[in-house]
Amino acid sequence: MFDLNKLVRENVKSLKPYSSARDDYHGREGIFLDANENPYGLLNRYPDPFQKELKAAISQIKEVPDDMIFLGNGSDEIIDLSFRILCKPGVDKALTFSPSYGMYEVSATVNDVSIIKIPLTRDFQISFEDVIPWLSDGAVKLILICSPNNPTGNCFDRNVLEQIIVNFDGIVLVDEAYIDFAGQPSLIDRITSFNNLIVMQTFSKAFGMASARVGMAFTNPEIVRYFNKIKPPYNISTINQKAVLKKLGKTGEYHRQVKKIKSERGRLAAALQKLPYTEKVFPSDANFLLVRVKDAGFIYQALVKKGIIVRNRSNLVDNCLRITIGTEYENNKLIGALKSIAL
Ligand code: PMP
Repeated sequence: MFDLNKLVRENVKSLKPYSSARDDYHGREGIFLDANENPYGLLNRYPDPFQKELKAAISQIKEVPDDMIFLGNGSDEIIDLSFRILCKPGVDKALTFSPSYGMYEVSATVNDVSIIKIPLTRDFQISFEDVIPWLSDGAVKLILICSPNNPTGNCFDRNVLEQIIVNFDGIVLVDEAYIDFAGQPSLIDRITSFNNLIVMQTFSKAFGMASARVGMAFTNPEIVRYFNKIKPPYNISTINQKAVLKKLGKTGEYHRQVKKIKSERGRLAAALQKLPYTEKVFPSDANFLLVRVKDAGFIYQALVKKGIIVRNRSNLVDNCLRITIGTEYENNKLIGALKSIAL
Protein backbone atom coordinates (compact mmCIF):
# COMPACT_ATOMS: atom_id res chain seq x y z
CA MET A 1 0.00 0.00 0.00
CA PHE A 2 1.27 3.44 -0.90
CA ASP A 3 1.80 5.46 2.27
CA LEU A 4 3.53 8.79 1.68
CA ASN A 5 4.34 9.26 5.35
CA LYS A 6 6.25 6.00 5.45
CA LEU A 7 8.05 6.89 2.26
CA VAL A 8 9.28 10.39 3.04
CA ARG A 9 12.69 10.70 4.72
CA GLU A 10 12.50 11.40 8.46
CA ASN A 11 14.66 14.53 8.22
CA VAL A 12 12.24 15.96 5.64
CA LYS A 13 9.19 15.07 7.72
CA SER A 14 10.56 16.69 10.87
CA LEU A 15 12.10 19.66 9.04
CA LYS A 16 11.03 23.10 10.17
CA PRO A 17 11.07 24.83 6.79
CA TYR A 18 12.69 28.18 6.19
CA SER A 19 9.99 30.74 6.62
CA SER A 20 10.39 33.40 4.00
CA ALA A 21 9.74 37.02 4.76
CA ARG A 22 6.62 37.12 2.60
CA ASP A 23 4.89 34.08 4.13
CA ASP A 24 2.84 36.13 6.60
CA TYR A 25 1.67 38.99 4.39
CA HIS A 26 0.18 38.46 0.96
CA GLY A 27 -0.90 41.97 -0.03
CA ARG A 28 0.89 43.87 -2.78
CA GLU A 29 0.67 47.27 -1.14
CA GLY A 30 2.49 48.07 2.06
CA ILE A 31 5.70 49.32 3.56
CA PHE A 32 8.00 46.34 3.24
CA LEU A 33 10.72 46.49 5.84
CA ASP A 34 10.86 42.77 6.50
CA ALA A 35 13.25 41.21 3.98
CA ASN A 36 16.38 43.37 4.05
CA GLU A 37 15.79 44.42 0.47
CA ASN A 38 17.05 47.65 -1.02
CA PRO A 39 14.00 49.96 -1.09
CA TYR A 40 15.04 51.43 -4.47
CA GLY A 41 14.87 49.98 -7.95
CA LEU A 42 12.81 47.74 -10.21
CA LEU A 43 14.02 44.25 -9.32
CA ASN A 44 14.63 45.05 -5.66
CA ARG A 45 11.93 42.77 -4.19
CA TYR A 46 12.09 39.02 -3.68
CA PRO A 47 9.79 36.99 -5.93
CA ASP A 48 6.55 35.34 -4.82
CA PRO A 49 7.89 32.08 -3.31
CA PHE A 50 4.79 30.14 -4.36
CA GLN A 51 4.27 31.74 -7.79
CA LYS A 52 0.53 32.17 -7.15
CA GLU A 53 -0.29 34.21 -10.25
CA LEU A 54 1.61 31.89 -12.56
CA LYS A 55 0.08 28.79 -10.95
CA ALA A 56 -3.41 30.24 -11.38
CA ALA A 57 -2.78 30.63 -15.11
CA ILE A 58 -1.26 27.13 -15.42
CA SER A 59 -4.18 25.73 -13.43
CA GLN A 60 -6.63 27.11 -16.01
CA ILE A 61 -4.72 25.85 -19.03
CA LYS A 62 -3.94 22.39 -17.65
CA GLU A 63 -7.24 22.03 -15.77
CA VAL A 64 -5.45 21.03 -12.59
CA PRO A 65 -6.22 22.72 -9.22
CA ASP A 66 -3.36 24.95 -8.01
CA ASP A 67 -2.75 22.85 -4.90
CA MET A 68 -1.78 19.99 -7.26
CA ILE A 69 0.90 22.08 -9.01
CA PHE A 70 4.52 22.59 -8.01
CA LEU A 71 6.91 24.74 -10.02
CA GLY A 72 10.64 24.16 -10.09
CA ASN A 73 13.63 26.04 -11.44
CA GLY A 74 13.42 23.87 -14.54
CA SER A 75 12.26 20.29 -14.27
CA ASP A 76 15.83 19.43 -13.35
CA GLU A 77 15.16 20.99 -9.94
CA ILE A 78 12.02 18.86 -9.55
CA ILE A 79 14.05 15.71 -10.24
CA ASP A 80 16.61 16.69 -7.60
CA LEU A 81 13.95 17.60 -5.00
CA SER A 82 12.21 14.25 -5.59
CA PHE A 83 15.41 12.41 -4.67
CA ARG A 84 15.86 14.58 -1.60
CA ILE A 85 12.33 13.97 -0.34
CA LEU A 86 12.34 10.22 -0.86
CA CYS A 87 15.78 8.65 -1.02
CA LYS A 88 18.07 8.27 1.99
CA PRO A 89 21.65 8.80 0.72
CA GLY A 90 23.69 5.61 0.66
CA VAL A 91 20.64 3.50 1.54
CA ASP A 92 17.71 3.91 -0.83
CA LYS A 93 17.56 3.27 -4.56
CA ALA A 94 15.84 4.67 -7.60
CA LEU A 95 14.96 2.94 -10.82
CA THR A 96 14.98 4.14 -14.38
CA PHE A 97 15.39 2.81 -17.90
CA SER A 98 18.20 2.85 -20.39
CA PRO A 99 18.73 4.75 -22.59
CA SER A 100 16.99 7.74 -21.09
CA TYR A 101 17.51 11.31 -19.92
CA GLY A 102 20.94 11.63 -18.32
CA MET A 103 19.95 13.87 -15.40
CA TYR A 104 18.16 11.04 -13.56
CA GLU A 105 21.48 9.32 -12.99
CA VAL A 106 23.40 12.55 -12.35
CA SER A 107 20.85 13.67 -9.77
CA ALA A 108 20.82 10.22 -8.15
CA THR A 109 24.60 10.22 -7.91
CA VAL A 110 24.76 13.75 -6.48
CA ASN A 111 22.32 12.56 -3.81
CA ASP A 112 24.35 9.36 -3.24
CA VAL A 113 21.44 7.20 -4.35
CA SER A 114 22.18 4.11 -6.39
CA ILE A 115 20.23 3.89 -9.59
CA ILE A 116 19.02 0.74 -11.30
CA LYS A 117 18.85 1.10 -15.07
CA ILE A 118 16.63 -1.42 -16.82
CA PRO A 119 17.41 -1.72 -20.54
CA LEU A 120 14.53 -0.94 -22.88
CA THR A 121 13.47 -3.60 -25.38
CA ARG A 122 14.74 -3.55 -28.98
CA ASP A 123 11.83 -1.32 -29.98
CA PHE A 124 12.56 0.99 -27.04
CA GLN A 125 9.63 -0.09 -24.87
CA ILE A 126 9.54 -1.02 -21.18
CA SER A 127 9.32 -4.71 -20.43
CA PHE A 128 7.03 -4.93 -17.39
CA GLU A 129 8.44 -8.40 -16.64
CA ASP A 130 11.86 -6.81 -16.07
CA VAL A 131 10.41 -4.27 -13.65
CA ILE A 132 8.40 -6.72 -11.52
CA PRO A 133 11.27 -7.98 -9.32
CA TRP A 134 12.13 -4.40 -8.31
CA LEU A 135 8.60 -3.40 -7.37
CA SER A 136 8.81 -5.34 -4.12
CA ASP A 137 12.32 -4.14 -3.22
CA GLY A 138 11.60 -1.84 -0.27
CA ALA A 139 14.77 0.18 -0.92
CA VAL A 140 13.45 1.39 -4.29
CA LYS A 141 11.60 4.61 -3.50
CA LEU A 142 11.39 6.35 -6.84
CA ILE A 143 10.87 5.27 -10.46
CA LEU A 144 11.70 7.80 -13.16
CA ILE A 145 10.12 7.29 -16.57
CA CYS A 146 10.64 9.61 -19.51
CA SER A 147 7.75 9.46 -21.97
CA PRO A 148 8.20 10.54 -24.76
CA ASN A 149 11.66 9.24 -24.03
CA ASN A 150 14.86 11.16 -24.61
CA PRO A 151 16.86 10.14 -26.70
CA THR A 152 14.72 7.47 -28.38
CA GLY A 153 11.79 9.84 -29.07
CA ASN A 154 8.95 7.36 -28.49
CA CYS A 155 6.15 7.23 -25.92
CA PHE A 156 5.89 4.17 -23.72
CA ASP A 157 2.82 1.97 -23.73
CA ARG A 158 0.36 3.68 -21.39
CA ASN A 159 -0.91 0.34 -20.02
CA VAL A 160 2.60 -0.58 -18.93
CA LEU A 161 3.04 2.80 -17.23
CA GLU A 162 -0.23 2.32 -15.36
CA GLN A 163 0.75 -1.22 -14.37
CA ILE A 164 3.96 0.09 -12.86
CA ILE A 165 2.14 2.89 -11.00
CA VAL A 166 -0.54 0.55 -9.63
CA ASN A 167 1.89 -2.13 -8.50
CA PHE A 168 4.49 0.12 -6.88
CA ASP A 169 4.34 1.46 -3.31
CA GLY A 170 6.86 4.20 -4.02
CA ILE A 171 6.54 7.24 -6.28
CA VAL A 172 6.53 7.15 -10.06
CA LEU A 173 7.71 10.32 -11.75
CA VAL A 174 6.66 10.46 -15.40
CA ASP A 175 8.71 13.07 -17.23
CA GLU A 176 6.59 14.45 -20.06
CA ALA A 177 8.99 17.17 -21.23
CA TYR A 178 8.11 16.37 -24.87
CA ILE A 179 4.41 15.48 -24.51
CA ASP A 180 3.17 18.44 -26.59
CA PHE A 181 4.74 16.85 -29.67
CA ALA A 182 3.29 13.39 -29.02
CA GLY A 183 0.39 11.56 -30.58
CA GLN A 184 -0.47 10.14 -27.16
CA PRO A 185 -2.28 12.04 -24.39
CA SER A 186 -0.60 13.13 -21.18
CA LEU A 187 -0.98 11.13 -17.97
CA ILE A 188 -2.01 14.35 -16.24
CA ASP A 189 -5.62 13.16 -16.13
CA ARG A 190 -4.51 10.26 -13.88
CA ILE A 191 -3.06 12.30 -11.00
CA THR A 192 -6.37 12.20 -9.15
CA SER A 193 -6.58 8.40 -9.59
CA PHE A 194 -3.01 7.61 -8.51
CA ASN A 195 -1.64 9.23 -5.35
CA ASN A 196 1.88 8.02 -6.12
CA LEU A 197 2.12 9.66 -9.54
CA ILE A 198 4.04 12.82 -10.37
CA VAL A 199 3.59 14.05 -13.94
CA MET A 200 6.34 16.46 -14.87
CA GLN A 201 6.24 18.92 -17.75
CA THR A 202 8.30 21.96 -18.68
CA PHE A 203 8.16 25.34 -20.39
CA SER A 204 11.56 24.60 -21.96
CA LYS A 205 10.36 22.72 -25.04
CA ALA A 206 7.00 23.37 -26.77
CA PHE A 207 6.54 26.73 -25.01
CA GLY A 208 9.97 27.87 -26.15
CA MET A 209 11.06 29.15 -22.73
CA ALA A 210 14.15 27.08 -21.90
CA SER A 211 15.91 30.24 -20.82
CA ALA A 212 13.30 30.98 -18.13
CA ARG A 213 13.89 27.68 -16.28
CA VAL A 214 10.36 26.77 -15.24
CA GLY A 215 9.34 23.15 -14.79
CA MET A 216 5.96 21.86 -13.60
CA ALA A 217 5.02 18.92 -11.40
CA PHE A 218 1.38 17.82 -11.25
CA THR A 219 0.70 15.55 -8.31
CA ASN A 220 -1.32 15.06 -5.15
CA PRO A 221 -1.40 18.03 -2.73
CA GLU A 222 0.52 16.14 -0.02
CA ILE A 223 3.50 15.67 -2.35
CA VAL A 224 3.22 19.32 -3.44
CA ARG A 225 3.49 20.31 0.25
CA TYR A 226 6.74 18.34 0.61
CA PHE A 227 8.18 19.97 -2.52
CA ASN A 228 7.27 23.38 -1.10
CA LYS A 229 8.72 22.46 2.27
CA ILE A 230 12.22 21.70 1.01
CA LYS A 231 12.66 23.94 -2.01
CA PRO A 232 14.87 27.04 -1.87
CA PRO A 233 12.36 29.76 -0.92
CA TYR A 234 12.69 31.95 -4.01
CA ASN A 235 13.38 29.27 -6.59
CA ILE A 236 11.86 31.08 -9.58
CA SER A 237 12.81 34.67 -10.29
CA THR A 238 10.18 37.38 -10.76
CA ILE A 239 11.47 38.01 -14.30
CA ASN A 240 11.02 34.37 -15.23
CA GLN A 241 7.59 34.08 -13.61
CA LYS A 242 6.46 37.14 -15.58
CA ALA A 243 7.98 35.91 -18.83
CA VAL A 244 6.14 32.60 -18.61
CA LEU A 245 2.88 34.33 -17.64
CA LYS A 246 3.18 36.52 -20.72
CA LYS A 247 3.83 33.48 -22.89
CA LEU A 248 0.74 31.76 -21.49
CA GLY A 249 -1.28 34.63 -22.88
CA LYS A 250 -0.10 33.67 -26.37
CA THR A 251 -1.43 30.16 -26.76
CA GLY A 252 -2.01 30.77 -30.49
CA GLU A 253 1.75 31.13 -30.96
CA TYR A 254 2.36 27.94 -28.99
CA HIS A 255 -0.11 25.96 -31.14
CA ARG A 256 1.33 27.33 -34.40
CA GLN A 257 4.89 26.50 -33.37
CA VAL A 258 4.05 22.97 -32.22
CA LYS A 259 2.23 22.33 -35.50
CA LYS A 260 5.14 23.68 -37.54
CA ILE A 261 7.73 21.68 -35.58
CA LYS A 262 5.68 18.50 -36.07
CA SER A 263 5.39 19.07 -39.82
CA GLU A 264 9.12 19.86 -40.08
CA ARG A 265 9.78 16.64 -38.14
CA GLY A 266 7.99 14.68 -40.86
CA ARG A 267 9.80 16.50 -43.65
CA LEU A 268 13.21 16.06 -42.01
CA ALA A 269 12.55 12.37 -41.32
CA ALA A 270 11.76 11.79 -44.99
CA ALA A 271 14.89 13.66 -46.09
CA LEU A 272 17.09 11.74 -43.63
CA GLN A 273 15.63 8.46 -44.82
CA LYS A 274 16.87 9.17 -48.36
CA LEU A 275 20.53 9.63 -47.40
CA PRO A 276 22.74 6.77 -48.57
CA TYR A 277 24.30 6.25 -45.13
CA THR A 278 21.05 6.33 -43.12
CA GLU A 279 20.12 2.97 -41.63
CA LYS A 280 17.03 3.95 -39.66
CA VAL A 281 15.06 7.02 -38.70
CA PHE A 282 13.21 6.11 -35.52
CA PRO A 283 9.59 7.24 -35.15
CA SER A 284 9.37 10.34 -32.97
CA ASP A 285 6.79 11.73 -30.54
CA ALA A 286 9.18 14.55 -29.64
CA ASN A 287 10.84 17.61 -31.18
CA PHE A 288 13.89 15.61 -32.21
CA LEU A 289 14.72 12.62 -34.38
CA LEU A 290 16.97 9.73 -33.51
CA VAL A 291 18.71 8.46 -36.61
CA ARG A 292 21.02 5.49 -37.05
CA VAL A 293 23.73 6.04 -39.63
CA LYS A 294 26.74 4.05 -40.85
CA ASP A 295 29.35 6.11 -39.00
CA ALA A 296 27.79 8.54 -36.48
CA GLY A 297 31.15 9.84 -35.23
CA PHE A 298 32.29 10.79 -38.72
CA ILE A 299 29.01 12.47 -39.65
CA TYR A 300 28.85 14.32 -36.35
CA GLN A 301 32.36 15.75 -36.93
CA ALA A 302 31.65 16.58 -40.56
CA LEU A 303 28.57 18.57 -39.45
CA VAL A 304 30.55 20.39 -36.73
CA LYS A 305 33.03 21.50 -39.41
CA LYS A 306 30.09 23.03 -41.27
CA GLY A 307 28.91 24.80 -38.11
CA ILE A 308 25.96 22.48 -37.49
CA ILE A 309 25.77 20.91 -34.06
CA VAL A 310 23.68 17.81 -33.44
CA ARG A 311 24.05 15.31 -30.60
CA ASN A 312 26.05 12.14 -31.05
CA ARG A 313 24.23 9.60 -28.86
CA SER A 314 26.29 6.59 -29.98
CA ASN A 315 27.35 5.85 -26.42
CA LEU A 316 23.65 5.26 -25.63
CA VAL A 317 22.31 3.86 -28.90
CA ASP A 318 24.77 2.40 -31.39
CA ASN A 319 25.70 4.80 -34.22
CA CYS A 320 22.84 7.17 -33.53
CA LEU A 321 22.58 10.92 -33.84
CA ARG A 322 19.87 12.92 -32.10
CA ILE A 323 18.77 15.86 -34.16
CA THR A 324 16.57 18.65 -32.77
CA ILE A 325 13.96 19.99 -35.18
CA GLY A 326 14.93 23.56 -36.03
CA THR A 327 13.30 26.23 -38.18
CA GLU A 328 12.61 25.46 -41.83
CA TYR A 329 15.76 27.41 -42.73
CA GLU A 330 17.91 25.51 -40.23
CA ASN A 331 16.51 22.16 -41.30
CA ASN A 332 17.23 22.97 -44.96
CA LYS A 333 20.80 23.90 -44.05
CA LEU A 334 21.15 20.58 -42.20
CA ILE A 335 19.72 18.56 -45.10
CA GLY A 336 22.04 20.35 -47.55
CA ALA A 337 25.06 19.70 -45.32
CA LEU A 338 24.16 16.02 -44.86
CA LYS A 339 23.74 15.55 -48.61
CA SER A 340 27.23 16.91 -49.19
CA ILE A 341 28.86 14.39 -46.82
CA ALA A 342 30.33 11.39 -48.59
CA LEU A 343 31.01 8.32 -46.48
N1 PMP B 1 13.39 16.07 -19.02
C1 PMP B 1 13.84 15.72 -20.22
C2 PMP B 1 13.42 14.41 -20.78
C3 PMP B 1 14.70 16.55 -20.95
O1 PMP B 1 15.16 16.15 -22.14
C4 PMP B 1 15.07 17.78 -20.38
C5 PMP B 1 15.98 18.77 -21.07
N2 PMP B 1 16.76 18.35 -22.06
C6 PMP B 1 14.59 18.10 -19.13
C7 PMP B 1 13.74 17.24 -18.47
C8 PMP B 1 14.99 19.37 -18.43
O2 PMP B 1 14.04 20.31 -18.60
P1 PMP B 1 14.10 21.72 -17.88
O3 PMP B 1 14.63 22.68 -18.88
O4 PMP B 1 12.67 21.97 -17.50
O5 PMP B 1 15.00 21.59 -16.67
